[in-house]
Amino acid sequence: MKQSNVILIFVVLTLITVMVYGCGGGHKSDRIGGAGTGTGTGTGSGTGSGNGGGTGTTGGENEFVYVWVITGGSASTAELEAMRVTIQAASEGLYEIAHGQQYIKHVTIKNNGTIDECHISTPLSRVTSGTLGGGLWARTGPGGLTGRHIECGGTVDPFTFAHEHGHMEYNLAGGNPQDRKEEYTNGGCPCVMSTGASGGRMQYCDDGNHTYSFDSCWKVILNQTSMTHTTGDYPVSGAGPLTEIVIEP
Ligand SMILES: [Zn+2]
Ligand SMILES: [Zn+2]
Repeated sequence: MKQSNVILIFVVLTLITVMVYGCGGGHKSDRIGGAGTGTGTGTGSGTGSGNGGGTGTTGGENEFVYVWVITGGSASTAELEAMRVTIQAASEGLYEIAHGQQYIKHVTIKNNGTIDECHISTPLSRVTSGTLGGGLWARTGPGGLTGRHIECGGTVDPFTFAHEHGHMEYNLAGGNPQDRKEEYTNGGCPCVMSTGASGGRMQYCDDGNHTYSFDSCWKVILNQTSMTHTTGDYPVSGAGPLTEIVIEP
């Protein structure tokens, strides 16, 4: 079982790509690109485990409700407040890539929490960082309220967040929970499951642009949710709803 989708983000990757893609363009996988946050250091943090068809737990369909914990201690109130920006951007990124059919409805941020009670975690030492450090952008691994969780920096960018969210909620890429694949190896898809350096874009790949033998991201998502997508059609959506964010310092 490939339980840990580690995204090694090589710092070199993508800032340039991100700039090029601007709004809507993707970036590399672990980096965020998409929604406007440059590369590496996005803002916000997202959390959640939603329900979108995937493995969500609460909220309406595709309205993700997440618990995001700070592990290893307690961040300052100012640091937690700053995460609101990250979370809203993450939600808007999810909204964008699904043509307005998913977003983060609610996030509870808990200080000094445990993996067991979360969907998303950020080590205290990375609360003000966009990555996990050591060349690691973010990752999705075992544990947490749904059996797997995202670990990321407190200012993770929307592209990187969407990449991990795809692993956690939809078993992207490929749709197999035992073998969640990446789409930046041996080529790359124009998708959040790739990386900026490998042609990633702030969208999900579909049967018209997917480059691997396993199912495209949209195919996997359509099989799991009531969302719709027409191959080759990537309509622009608005920013999406405001995410309710409750801080438990
Ligand atoms: Zn894809
Ligand atoms: Zn693909």
